[in-house]
Amino acid sequence: MQETKKIYLDYSATTPTAPEVVEAMLPYFGGAFGNPASIHGFGQQAKVGLEDARRQISGVMHAEPGEVVFTSGGTEGNNWAIKGAASFFADKKRHFITSTAEHHAVLYPCQYLEKIGFDVTYLPVDRTGRVSAAQVAAAIRDDTCLVSLMHANNEVGTLNPISEIGAVTREKGVLFHTDAVQTFGKIPIDVKEMNIDLLSISAHKLYGPKGIGALFIRQGLKIDLLLHGGKHERGRRAGTENVPAAVGLGKAAELAADKLEENDAHLTHLRDQLQERIFGGIQGVHLNGHELERHPAILSVSFEGVQSDSLLLSLDLKGIAVSNGSACMSGTVEPSHVLKAMGVPTPLASAAIRFSLGHDTTSADVEYTVEALQEILTRLRKIRRK
Ligand SMILES: *Cc1c(COP(=O)(O)O)cnc(C)c1O
Repeated sequence: MQETKKIYLDYSATTPTAPEVVEAMLPYFGGAFGNPASIHGFGQQAKVGLEDARRQISGVMHAEPGEVVFTSGGTEGNNWAIKGAASFFADKKRHFITSTAEHHAVLYPCQYLEKIGFDVTYLPVDRTGRVSAAQVAAAIRDDTCLVSLMHANNEVGTLNPISEIGAVTREKGVLFHTDAVQTFGKIPIDVKEMNIDLLSISAHKLYGPKGIGALFIRQGLKIDLLLHGGKHERGRRAGTENVPAAVGLGKAAELAADKLEENDAHLTHLRDQLQERIFGGIQGVHLNGHELERHPAILSVSFEGVQSDSLLLSLDLKGIAVSNGSACMSGTVEPSHVLKAMGVPTPLASAAIRFSLGHDTTSADVEYTVEALQEILTRLRKIRRK
């Protein structure tokens, strides 16, 4: 029997943990297992690992180590930034601004704020999934507390004009949070230059382990806590730190930064190849997202005349892993809220596939995928026409 190929094109859902990262983590499960809060040698050894990781992470975003707090991932970072700011400033500023194309880990905390009496403006995105700084400026009110807009959209890869938005929020004295889960370590980020107050990252989108992330909180900014308890993380996030995972995130950040340009060139090249081959060899295809302002490794395409779940399953049978909508939406047939927000017509929104490329993706994978697509689409579209 011929062995089925395995091609993973879903790196935006999660990435494998890099061997160097696993290696860096291992000592902290063994000899260096101490609690970083402990005064003794075991504790201090763990503390050194934790603080080295904090330095590695802060360096990559041009922050100070003390501005980085470990979390359980991107979801916690987003929840903390939004709810923490809301409750801290509740007696003065009760208005929040976000967009309709955000990740659910931003949208749902915002909906929760509305439920408990806060006011939220959901800015519409354009056909490419973008929000403009002018839209943000126009939406800011005297009682606006915080603007939360993602760096790169996880479904279509579109980049928001983060620097321009940061300039607006800083000038108007409004807090700016960005979900940079898809871009940290992949696209340069400078929290100072970009005037960012709060920024969420997650390790498992960056060849690090799952269940660890960090929230950047600008020096001097106070927000309420999400988790109350011990004095960990300088009293900002209670709970014994997941030291091995934090060390893994630190190593992943360092590796990503060291090879940022190289990775960017590799991914952009392959993504362009995939896009050119799809658009050159398949009829009835539509690009979702922005032609230029985009993440190097994400390509979202709608294929006329098919349902994305049938296409996804047929690709899976050929060993090719892709995604329709975001991973958290799989299992449902609802077209993605992002494509809806972009105004993609429903038949095309329910025919969208996200290809997301990674370190191990090769040119041969791209060719194999396009051949598989051609074969599957011919079959699915024929069935449909009958
Ligand atoms: C994956 C993702 C998250 C959630 O991160 P977790 O670490 O899985 O909680 C948030 N925002 C974006 C843009 C993501 O892609």
